[in-house]
Amino acid sequence: MLNEILDYNKQFVENKEYEKYETTKYPKKKMVILTCMDTRLLELLPKAMNLNNGDVKLVKNAGAIVSHPFGSIMRSILIAVYQLQAEEVMVIAHHDCGMSGLKADSVIESMKKRGISEERLETLKYAGVDFEKWLHGFDYVEESVAHSVNTIKHHPLMPESVPVHGLVIDPKTGKLDLIVDGYDN
Ligand SMILES: [Zn+2]
Repeated sequence: MLNEILDYNKQFVENKEYEKYETTKYPKKKMVILTCMDTRLLELLPKAMNLNNGDVKLVKNAGAIVSHPFGSIMRSILIAVYQLQAEEVMVIAHHDCGMSGLKADSVIESMKKRGISEERLETLKYAGVDFEKWLHGFDYVEESVAHSVNTIKHHPLMPESVPVHGLVIDPKTGKLDLIVDGYDN
């Protein structure tokens, strides 16, 4: 994959295909969106929301989950708000997510098959790594969105004036369902 991408990239730059994407680092729509890394959303989500290059700050992870109040996702959202002029936050998870119903056990099984030893896993457990918690996905997508919205909204470093919305997108049709209207609270 790497060489194919590098070859294409050379052409892309030489042909100045970047010109039509030129913009600034400040989001025109003054918003930061946290969504899932799902492949189906790569183009669908921006198209379904009429977002173009330069419009928003986009943060992605598996499941669109804020699992730690002082992790890198929360930091990205705060940087967007304080340094990059984002005035609203949106959490957009989706139906049929890989993190839905994910249990630590099945991930650990895959790890073992790929050569991670039982011994190493035990060592990490003794060092305080809670795999059950760390690798757990969510049972209900709406609940997960509401939880992440809550974590962001009530973060001690988040300004009270910033609305935090929660939505769920259909990865086939792009339809958005509103779960939490950030203007309401
Ligand atoms: Zn997902």
